[in-house]
Order: sequence, then C-alpha cells, then structure tokens
Amino acid sequence: MTASEFDIIARYFSHLGVRGADVLLGVGDDCALLRPPLGMDLALTVDTLVAGQHFFADVDPEALGHKCLAVSLSDLAAMGATPAWASLALTLTEVDADWLAGFARGFGRLAEKAGIALVGGDTTRGPLSISVQLQGLLPTGQGLRRSGAQAGDLICVSGQLGDAALALAQLQQGQTPEPELRARLERPSPRLALGQRLLGLAHACIDISDGLLADLGHICSASALAAEIQLTDLPCLPELKAKADWSLPLGGGDDYELCFTLPAESADRLPRLAAELDLPLSIIGRMLPGEGVSCRLADGRLYQPSRKGFDHFADS
Ligand code: ADP
Ligand code: MG
Repeated sequence: MTASEFDIIARYFSHLGVRGADVLLGVGDDCALLRPPLGMDLALTVDTLVAGQHFFADVDPEALGHKCLAVSLSDLAAMGATPAWASLALTLTEVDADWLAGFARGFGRLAEKAGIALVGGDTTRGPLSISVQLQGLLPTGQGLRRSGAQAGDLICVSGQLGDAALALAQLQQGQTPEPELRARLERPSPRLALGQRLLGLAHACIDISDGLLADLGHICSASALAAEIQLTDLPCLPELKAKADWSLPLGGGDDYELCFTLPAESADRLPRLAAELDLPLSIIGRMLPGEGVSCRLADGRLYQPSRKGFDHFADS
C-alpha cells in the first residue's frame, strides 16, 4: 500500500459509523476483530456496484456512498437481521478529495443511522467499483428465508414498486425526475425495521432488487410453490396504475422493498404494523400449489408480461 492510499483510508474511512464494544479492533490492522454476542446467528452478504453497470459514473458521490451501503442493508433486512459490521472494498480511477469526502459522508450517515461500524476494507486503483460486505445478527435459527412459504400464504410487499425504474427511465431519456422519485433510485431506504418485525411472523421474505416478478419467482422456486398476484393491488404510482402500465412495478428492480409471505390468519396484523412503521404494506396475492408467478387483471384474465418489459425495462 502506498502512503497516499494509507492517507485516504485514515482520512475518510477509519471512523465511519457507530463503533460499539463489539468491535475489538477496527480499521488499521490486518483484520478487524469482532465479538459476536453469544447465541446469535451471523448473516453475511456482499454486493458489488460497478460504474456504468449499476450507476452513472458521474452520480453524486454522496448518493453513491448511501446507495452502496443501502443495497447490502436491504439484504440483511430481507433476512430479518440486525446490521452489525461493514467492510468496504473500493476501486478508484483516481484520488479526488471532493469525491471521497462526499462518498464517505453518504456512507457514514447511513452507517450511523443503521447503527453499524465500518471495520475494514481494501482500497485499490482501477475502473470505479465498490463492494460492500455486511454482517448482521439474528436470533438463533430465526433468519427469514426464501424457502419457507406455504400454500395459502398471502403475498405482501412494502412501499411502492417501480419508482426507481421510472426515475432511471427518465434519466436515460434526458429528463429530470422529481426529487422524491429520484431519491427512490439514488437513496433507497432499506426496510430494516420491517424485516426485524417479520421474524416469527412471515414464512418467507426477499428484497425486491431485481423486480417483483423475478424476486417473487425466487420465493416460488425455493418454496416449490406458485404465486398469483392481482395487478390492481400492486402499490405503484397512480399514473402507472391509470395507464395499466405494469412493466415497471413488475420488472423494474432497484426498489429495495421487501416481498414476504404471511399465513392468512396473520393478515389482520398488517395494518397496525404498517402504521407503527409508517410504511405502506400491501397484500398483492397468494401462494398456491404449482410453480411460477402469474398475474391477474381486474377482470380475472391472465396478463402476459412481455419479456422485454421485465428483462430490459429501460428499453421498453
Ligand atoms: P492489508 O495490506 O493488510 O490488506 P490494507 O493496506 O489493504 O491492509 O488496509 C489497511 C487497513 O485499512 C486494513 O485494516 C483495512 O481493513 C483498512 N482499509 C483499507 N481500505 C479501506 C476502506 N476503503 N474502508 C475501510 N477500511 C479500509
Ligand atoms: Mg488489503
């Protein structure tokens, strides 16, 4: 490591987040030393964001710092885990002090909000890319898996679907999305509190990062069941609903909402949970015997999503 790399780490990345007594040793040695509490399971996830592939290289660095952490926090949320520690592997084309300060600010603020410490990482030179590895804690044996859905379960989603994809489509067409919509793409809010409240309540859970059809499809295959959703029940922007344009809410991706299945007898707990979390929770369908996801229109007919619509929403 060169002196300048050492300076970058010391200056921008040595004190991010909230460091508790569980961090015996943070940034600065060959490894971090962490002390997991007795009787908890460890949840571990890593995600890489590559410039040009997952984000525009000229995106606001503060938003990017937020998003690269939010994406991994969303994976912990989907398991019901409480975030604990982060590490960050950064590949940079150049050392740009303003960019680094903005990136570290976005990352650090969300790390503080999530109550985690950045305990280590790696810094190298090359095409801009960012990997965040996160560890979280779960009560023994309770992690929410994709495989636990049961026939008859209600399918539920948090928040509003398709917002991030709509913002992306507008940016790609040279338009400026409304700030609130743009924030849904660039500064997603991982649904950590929801995931933790679903422990012992939901049968299966996944975060919607690749679009509802794809991600609910993973619950179906992992649980060996089919899913049927009612399109008119999808929570999405009124203008999409009015046009019956389902391609973004079904296939957009980058939403970072949770999709979970609930035993039907627990349905009456949803409204209170939504009120307590100040987060819309919608029932959109049911798990059934069989395989695959099918979508019903208001008149009961089956809707065939176009492949193009959900594989390459930006081109549709
Ligand atoms: P090593 O050569 O032993 O892998 P490095 O020179 O890569 O060590 O890193 C020195 C220290 O700085 C390590 O504790 C490492 O975890 C930390 N570190 C390096 N890059 C980052 C980063 N981007 N964010 C946080 N910590 C980092
Ligand atoms: Mg290293």
